[in-house]
Amino acid sequence: MDFKQIVSHAKEYGFIYQSSEIYDTLAAVYDYGPNGVELKNNIKEYWWRSMVQRHENIVGIDAAIFMHPKTWKASGHVDAFNDPLIDNKDSKKRYRADVLIEEQIDKLEAKAEKEINKAAKRFGEQFDREQFVTTNDRVLRYHGEKEALARRLAEAMKKNNLEGLKQIIEDLQIACPESGSRNWTDVRQFNLMFSTQLGNIAGEEGKLYLRPETAQGIFVNFLNVQKTSRQKIPFGIAQIGKAFRNEIVARQFIFRMREFEQMEMQFFVRPGEEMEWYEYWKDLRIKWHRAIGTPQEKLRFHNHDNLAHYANAAVDIQFEFPFGFKELEGIHSRTDFDLASHQELSGKKLQFFDPELEKSYVPYVVETSIGCDRMFLAMLSQSLQEETVPDADGKESTRIVMKIHPAIAPIKCAILPLVKNKPELTEKAKAIFNDLKFFTQCQYDEKDAIGRRYRRQDAIGTPFCITVDFESLDDESVTIRDRDSLKQDRVHVSKIQDVLRDKINMESLLRSF
Ligand code: ATP
Repeated sequence: MDFKQIVSHAKEYGFIYQSSEIYDTLAAVYDYGPNGVELKNNIKEYWWRSMVQRHENIVGIDAAIFMHPKTWKASGHVDAFNDPLIDNKDSKKRYRADVLIEEQIDKLEAKAEKEINKAAKRFGEQFDREQFVTTNDRVLRYHGEKEALARRLAEAMKKNNLEGLKQIIEDLQIACPESGSRNWTDVRQFNLMFSTQLGNIAGEEGKLYLRPETAQGIFVNFLNVQKTSRQKIPFGIAQIGKAFRNEIVARQFIFRMREFEQMEMQFFVRPGEEMEWYEYWKDLRIKWHRAIGTPQEKLRFHNHDNLAHYANAAVDIQFEFPFGFKELEGIHSRTDFDLASHQELSGKKLQFFDPELEKSYVPYVVETSIGCDRMFLAMLSQSLQEETVPDADGKESTRIVMKIHPAIAPIKCAILPLVKNKPELTEKAKAIFNDLKFFTQCQYDEKDAIGRRYRRQDAIGTPFCITVDFESLDDESVTIRDRDSLKQDRVHVSKIQDVLRDKINMESLLRSF
């Protein structure tokens, strides 16, 4: 399905609504509806149990959104959490200068891909991609231009060279996507943190920030957690929570929001061992994505050309969203930057005494950081499909089906009486529902013809539909319909849980990688 269809499906089926819709919405803020909150909770559960439950050396916390303002001074966010913005004087639209340039880089890659795909079609089975990419003149030119531009952008970003960014925009003759005009302002820095004011202290002193990342709640609690959980290095602290960023360009639905949720884990290691752990977490995080059914070809690593002020290595796990490969998760080797800065600014020691090395040190940190909402969008976009299937009467019809892993599907099974106006059927179906609701998230539905009810469940990804028909009254059995294969099995009522358990169970998923 294309991106537009995904967005409207998300609204129509109660996954995601725009915030404050009756007041014409609040840009880049979204609310999760009844199916959305179930799916989001399941994604969070999958992450939490993979991180915390599966690792005896990872523990969780839930820190507050507000933190002492000095936190953000120490972390570098007050001085350096900026995006370079540029305004178009004619359209009055505001853009991120680096994003405008990145779009040009993507265009060059797309041009190269087009040549490669054309050749692949022409040569068929004999096509040698590697050879073509390294010898074809056009592809070499596009790739060369792309790399040169990426280097130029990285250089300007690293040196905070705002004139340099403007110069690239002028050299490439980038036009405003809205108006086509090239009448740009200078590039300026814009801090992404939202601020608010404490009630009892006036002025700068009382200025508070809404946290732009959850990580700092973990760093400032490093010693509290290490001591109270008696962990030894290496160990990790995990957290799921809201983060806020005053994004300049907030487009692409829940991909870039001003209020969003992060799932972050900071792993504390001995200095010098961080690269081994960095590789370990890269590998494990890809396995996590693969286990939930994300195809390998939709995932790729993308090394940062432009390292953040705190990192000595950083990679994104990119996912192929409907608008191209974009960052889904970041894995960063943050050195001792955060703990050392908090130690310096607070005057409190944030060190670990390593009994094996018999010395104290500020640990190094490898973090994995994924946006829950981006993961949600990745799940929607990879699992929503339109397909042709045989109807009950043998004809063909199209259905929209969400082929999502059963363990994270919002509703695990629907219980449907074949028809609504036969009390013996509805009573039996309700009795089954009233039992199964203690086992898993179920829905009872008797409205409309059975075919339409199946379609409704397909559209929200319900892996199993249980139909109660007239035979059920005699033989105590029901039909269980599988969402993906459409296979229907006759099962005794007492065996329903056994049939469902293995497929919808998070445990099997957690054991699978
Ligand atoms: P981007 O380059 O896309 O702005 P980032 O590199 O600033 O992202 P991080 O600071 O590494 O992002 O944050 C970790 C994760 O949090 C990202 O991988 C992403 O999944 C998520 N995230 C960051 N910003 C947003 C946002 N505005 N809306 C939704 N999710 C976000």
